[in-house]
Amino acid sequence: MKSSDLFARAKTLMPGGVSSPVRAIKPYPFYVERAAGSHLTTVDGADLIDCCLGYGPLILGHAHPVVREAIERQLEKGWLYGTPSPLEIDLAEIITGDHPGIDMVRFVSSGSEATMAAIRLARGYTGKQDIIKVEGGFHGAHDAVLVKAGSGATTLGVPDSAGVVADLVAHTRQVPYNDPEALEKLLSGNDDVAAFILEPIMGNVGPVLPDDGYLADVREITAAHDVLLILDEVITGYRVGIGGAEVLYGVKPDIATFGKIIGGGLPIGAFGGRRDIMELVAPSGPVYQAGTFSGNPASLAAGSAALRYLHDHPEIYRRLDDATRAIEEVAVDAHQGSFVRIGSVFKHFFRGSAPRNYREVKECDTEAFSRFWKAMLDAGIFLPPAQFETNFLSAAHTQVDIEQIADAYRSCLFA
Ligand code: PMP
Repeated sequence: MKSSDLFARAKTLMPGGVSSPVRAIKPYPFYVERAAGSHLTTVDGADLIDCCLGYGPLILGHAHPVVREAIERQLEKGWLYGTPSPLEIDLAEIITGDHPGIDMVRFVSSGSEATMAAIRLARGYTGKQDIIKVEGGFHGAHDAVLVKAGSGATTLGVPDSAGVVADLVAHTRQVPYNDPEALEKLLSGNDDVAAFILEPIMGNVGPVLPDDGYLADVREITAAHDVLLILDEVITGYRVGIGGAEVLYGVKPDIATFGKIIGGGLPIGAFGGRRDIMELVAPSGPVYQAGTFSGNPASLAAGSAALRYLHDHPEIYRRLDDATRAIEEVAVDAHQGSFVRIGSVFKHFFRGSAPRNYREVKECDTEAFSRFWKAMLDAGIFLPPAQFETNFLSAAHTQVDIEQIADAYRSCLFA
C-alpha cells in the first residue's frame, strides 16, 4: 500500500494520522519500509539519505551491526524483568565516567520523563517552587515546560497547550537564550527559584549556539543565587562529543538530563547529577519517581553498545565535523540564509544571520524553508520537516552520501 493510502487510513485511527505531531508532513508523510545505515526506503520505493535519524538518537546510523547484535543478544535473555539487571550498572558507569558533574543516574523511558523528574528533584532539593527555562527551549511534552514563548521573563508563564492548568505554569518563568543579564535580573527579583533548565545548545529551534562565555555566566549566576542548573543534554549528550556539552563547554551542571543517543535508538531517558541531590530520589529520598519500563534491558543493552562503540571510535566525531564543514562550504555561497553547524548538527536558517535566540529564530522565512525542504526531498535527502528542527549526520553517512547532500544543497539553495 502506498503512503497516501496508508495516511488516509491512519487519519481515521490516530489524531492527525500520526504518533507525534511533527511527523504529519503535508499533504501526507512518507511511510518507511526499512532503514539501514544512512538510508531510508519508503513503501513507495524511494531511497532517501536520512538527515533526521529519528530526531537524533541514531549517531551510528540505522541498524548498526554492533547495536543490533547487542539487542539480539539481549532479546534471547528476555526484555523486561521488573527487577534490577547488571545492564543498568554498566550504562550508569559509562555515563557517570564520561561526565564529571554526574555522580549518580536514574534511568527512565524518555527525555520528557527525565526533565519532568529533574524539575521535581530540583524543587524537592531546594524547597523552592519556580523554575526558569529559555524562551523556545524544549524539554519534552509535560505540563511545566509547555509554556508559550514570548510571555516574558517578568510575567507569569502562559500555557502553550490546551489542557495545561494555568496555575501550574505560573511557576515557570522564561528568559531569552544568550542573555545572562536577563537571567541575573530575574533571579535578583525572585528568591523562590529552584532551577534554571536549558538546552546548552538550543536544539529544537536550532541549532542556536551559545555565545562565548554564556554557559559559564549561567553557571556563575545560578550558583550565586543558590539556584540549581539543569543541563538538558537529551540532544547534546554524546552528540557533540563524549561528555556532551558539559565537557565541550566545561560547564558543570547540578542535574543533567539525557535521552536519545544513550539508548542506541531504543526508548530511554535518564537524569543524573550531584550525589547529595540524587540521594533525594526515591527510595533513598523523598522525591518520588518510578516507571514500569525504567531501566529497560533492551534499551540499556543497545545504549551501552552504542556508547562503547563511540568510545572505541572517537574519530567518528572528527569525521562528522569534517562532513558538516563540507556541506557548509557549499551552503555559505548561497545568497539566502545562514548555515549553522556544530559537529554533526547542522541547519540552514532562512534568515540573514545566524539566530542567537528564539525571537531571532522566529524571523526565519518558513515558506522559503518549506520550498527548500521539498526540493531536498525530491533530490533524495530527508531533512527534518521544519525550519525549527535540527539536522543530524551519522557515522554511517559515507563520503558519497555527504557529496550527494552537498550537491543537493547546491542545487536547492541556488534554485
Ligand atoms: N529535551 C530535549 C532537549 C529534547 O530535544 C527532547 C526531544 N526532542 C526532549 C527533552 C524530550 O525527549 P523525548 O521525546 O524522548 O520525550
